[in-house]
Amino acid sequence: MLLEVNGMKSSYGRIEALHGIDVQVGEGELVALVGANGAGKTTFLRALSGVQPLTNGEIRFDGADITKSKPQARVKQGISQVPEGRQVFGPLSVEDNLRLGAYRRRGADTDADLERVFETFPILKRKRKESAGTLSGGQQQMLAMGRALMSNPRLLLLDEPSMGLAPLLVGEIFNIVQMLREQGTTILLVEQNAFQALAIADRGYVIETGRIVLTDTGENLINDEKVKAAYLGL
Ligand code: ATP
Repeated sequence: MLLEVNGMKSSYGRIEALHGIDVQVGEGELVALVGANGAGKTTFLRALSGVQPLTNGEIRFDGADITKSKPQARVKQGISQVPEGRQVFGPLSVEDNLRLGAYRRRGADTDADLERVFETFPILKRKRKESAGTLSGGQQQMLAMGRALMSNPRLLLLDEPSMGLAPLLVGEIFNIVQMLREQGTTILLVEQNAFQALAIADRGYVIETGRIVLTDTGENLINDEKVKAAYLGL
């Protein structure tokens, strides 16, 4: 397994938000973690990227224990997160935003990576000289994903990429996530939009109030009666 999370617990003060999470992601897999508002998805991702401490459990990446590694060290090892709300640098151009994503890789072939990102997101190429702040919500999401890809990640963490987007754009973003997986990127997709996330995922986990309550293939979860009732509105 590329990523192994074992018994992860995490708290805000005296309030425990994660009660022992076990999640695995294999090389090349697209894994979805789905759950409602407040289930603990963001806390889980923050703990993975190292900005939220664990009170128990461990995180292993490529076999190494990174539970206590600093966020920058994890990025260097290849864990790259696209944060919720995207957080692109509005005044900077699209191209400069993308180049910032490669800043840890001095000496790397940034131009080749940039071209690859432009192939995946042609709209970003057309708008490369425009300031990021002028992009639509969907385009900013693409920019944030492109920026993360510029670090050549071994694991891409996506925090609710469909949030706040119109339905048509949501479909487009999920298509892109699926395409990235087909290109070989390992992805952990965290989503409230359970149906579309599970539809493209190899495997999925359902999180409820800080616990994993179900795990199976994406397909089996979509057809699971409990999942249908609770998350798919069916
Ligand atoms: P959302 O979809 O709204 O982001 P989520 O699934 O990401 O929800 P979390 O934000 O991880 O859920 O929250 C998990 C639990 O931890 C919730 O009960 C929430 O109220 C609590 N929590 C989150 N952030 C804090 C904080 N800074 N201080 C105290 N409690 C918090």
